[in-house]
Amino acid sequence: MAENSVRLQVRNLSFSYGEKPAVDHVDFHVNRGEFVGLIGPNGSGKSTVLKTIYRALPPDEGEILLDGKPIADMSYRESALKMAVVGQENDVPFNFKVREIVAMGRTPHKRLFDLDTPEDRYMVHHALEHVGMEDMEERSYLHLSGGERQRVIIARAVAQESDFFIMDEPTNHLDISYQLQIFDFVRRLGVTVLSAIHDLNMAALYCDRLYVLKRGRVVLEGTPEEVLTEANIRDVYGVSCTVAKHPATDKVAITFLPARRQKEDT
Ligand code: ADP
Ligand code: MG
Repeated sequence: MAENSVRLQVRNLSFSYGEKPAVDHVDFHVNRGEFVGLIGPNGSGKSTVLKTIYRALPPDEGEILLDGKPIADMSYRESALKMAVVGQENDVPFNFKVREIVAMGRTPHKRLFDLDTPEDRYMVHHALEHVGMEDMEERSYLHLSGGERQRVIIARAVAQESDFFIMDEPTNHLDISYQLQIFDFVRRLGVTVLSAIHDLNMAALYCDRLYVLKRGRVVLEGTPEEVLTEANIRDVYGVSCTVAKHPATDKVAITFLPARRQKEDT
């Protein structure tokens, strides 16, 4: 398959919970190997878009193609083999052991009631090694810190052996060092990524391209440099900021200005 082939194509996607559409005729795509960010204010539809892609919600309209094939024509197992979902660290409600959570990533590779094979156990251990948590297999998930929990969730996605990660604000509530660590782990895997990202500076650091959602619509798209301008951020978020290219990272870095200062400016 060509290097820059399209992994995910979303066409004319719409979804409503009630009267008002949460996602309103959205089009975008993710190429193989790209790290694509979905940004936009709270309630702009990022999670809803992702839920239709990982099939937690059925679209009202539109089409979602994975590797050129409509996901609506795939079994749940087939689509689960193609994409791993990384949510927020508090999404696991029960008190499983670390290795049990990671082993859940093996589910699409197995039949119902299949026992864990040596290969499964190897994959679980290997996945935990990737995030530096191989010594914590027997620990209980709920007793871990937020940063450790999210590393377990990344390990679950690694154990799934999928090369496409769908992530929904995966570093919410985490300290800055864990935010960087989580995105670094994912980037080192070299997988294709579609991630909702809350923090615009994180989006600038890690994403190849961005789509900006506002009230359920894609209003901007492009590289972080093209999208994250002072004028665009004011339009979409209603805040003032300065944007400069950081000499150490060569990426755009945004400094937000306090609200009182914004009033004085206008
Ligand atoms: P984001 O992830 O960008 O914050 P969401 O996709 O969660 O946005 O929400 C988009 C819109 O849909 C918002 O107006 C939100 O209030 C609404 N919404 C989200 N989830 C539900 C739900 N389960 N039931 C009803 N409305 C919802
Ligand atoms: Mg959300």
